[in-house]
Amino acid sequence: MGTLTFDSFDPATGAVVGSHPNQGSDAVHEAVGRADEAAAWWAGLGHEERRRRLLDYKAVVTQHLRELATLVHQETGKPVGDATLEIVLAITHIDWAARNARKVLGRRRVGTGMIGLNLAATLEYLPLGVVAVIGPWNYPVFTPMGSIAYALAAGNAVVFKPSELTPGVGVRLAELFAESVPEHPVFQAVTGLGETGAALAGDPRVRKVAFTGSTATAKRVMAACAENLTPIVAECGGKDAFIVDADADVARAADACLWGAMSNAGQTCVGVERVYVVDAVYESFMRELSGRVAKVRAGEDYGPITMPGQVDIIKRHIDDAAKSGKVIAGGPASVRAPYVDPVIVEDVPEDSPAVREETFGPTITVRRTRDAHEALQLANASAYGLGGTVFSKNARRAMELARMMRSGMTAINSVISFAGVPALPFGGVGDSGFGRIHGADGLREFARPKAISRQRFAMPGMNLTSFARGPAELDRLIRLVTFLHGRRKR
Ligand code: NDP
Repeated sequence: MGTLTFDSFDPATGAVVGSHPNQGSDAVHEAVGRADEAAAWWAGLGHEERRRRLLDYKAVVTQHLRELATLVHQETGKPVGDATLEIVLAITHIDWAARNARKVLGRRRVGTGMIGLNLAATLEYLPLGVVAVIGPWNYPVFTPMGSIAYALAAGNAVVFKPSELTPGVGVRLAELFAESVPEHPVFQAVTGLGETGAALAGDPRVRKVAFTGSTATAKRVMAACAENLTPIVAECGGKDAFIVDADADVARAADACLWGAMSNAGQTCVGVERVYVVDAVYESFMRELSGRVAKVRAGEDYGPITMPGQVDIIKRHIDDAAKSGKVIAGGPASVRAPYVDPVIVEDVPEDSPAVREETFGPTITVRRTRDAHEALQLANASAYGLGGTVFSKNARRAMELARMMRSGMTAINSVISFAGVPALPFGGVGDSGFGRIHGADGLREFARPKAISRQRFAMPGMNLTSFARGPAELDRLIRLVTFLHGRRKR
């Protein structure tokens, strides 16, 4: 591996925030080895003790909220207030995962049915062992914690590779865990560049990889995982649509749309990128949107573009959209690295990069549609399918549209609200990835079902799994199954 250390930078000033070891494959494999031993100990603690330790960790993170928020601010450039919000959400997820792990994963009896009348059946979800979490930089606490907290609550050890842009935050999250769990390295961070993540994903002792990042890198990670048949949960961003129906509160919709699109400089996997507004409210919505966007400032309301290379992608999308569509706010001159001012362009062709590819910047395209049905069709015509929004005062209609939206999550009359509900699973379809973090599904994602059937007594005259079985037993079985299942429902 190349250099021994690498630096993280404040994207607003370019100042060095911290220096971290660039850990090569040997160091990564050692960490996984330690995690493997720690995993056995952690699994052996049982649900109650893990719950106690995780709730303690939650308190430690809460006590360090200001310090962590400052670090997130330094490494990502986002305002301290936004960093605080992200950490608060992460805290609620640690809490939910800790409190619900036993209920969701613990041993329970399940029904055996008539044919299994003489059996007792139990189901429980056991830890996998070592879980590798490969994290992003845009929400360096909230996003990885959606995997880390759930994997830990499910009884696994975690080795976390934070993005090379936000290593300090990742290291601190693991350090703080050791305050609640000092005995074994149940949660470790390894730092480095892409190769460090590749070494982690390729370690055969890793039982599951939780990846967040681009679709292209997810494919590479998945290819590395294929070697060992290591399963993966992949959260790869999106191109989320925002639908404004004819009866929407347009002022609220415009306010929410703007925040969903521009906050965190648009560097949000479930950020608003495409807006579809039905004809009846188009003019009034655009008036509200234009009025509000004029007051939003890069460098004040949101920070710089965290990843320098992203500026070129954002610029390419804006330049192209400005040529083919009508600019409502900002334009090519809005890109003044590391900042990008808000950009709104309408009537951009649906096959343009700004409509098809993830921009990850403070930009939106807006299109007028005949009705909500057309809006939904356009919203669904994307390779991505992560989140989305519907604004409508008619709750039934909004539910209908939300259910038909091809995405993992949809918010109604609010943006991104699902992310703050720990019980709701989070994840996408198509190019947005697969698998789920958060909620009961997020706990089960990091566990393996263990099914046990126990014979309580021998069923007289019904020993079906024996070479001693005779025609009389089969006859009884056929009569029983005909009684149970033989009646048609027409
Ligand atoms: P990547 O997908 O390249 O990186 C995501 C994570 O994977 C980082 O921790 C990265 O480490 C790590 N990584 C990179 N290469 C490998 C590899 N071969 N094996 C294992 N791990 C690897 O995303 P970027 O940060 O470069 O951002 C690129 C684009 O991804 C953005 O423009 C945005 O569109 C999208 N994105 C989506 C996010 C989301 O929330 N879904 C979050 C971040 C980005 P390192 O940082 O050290 O390279």
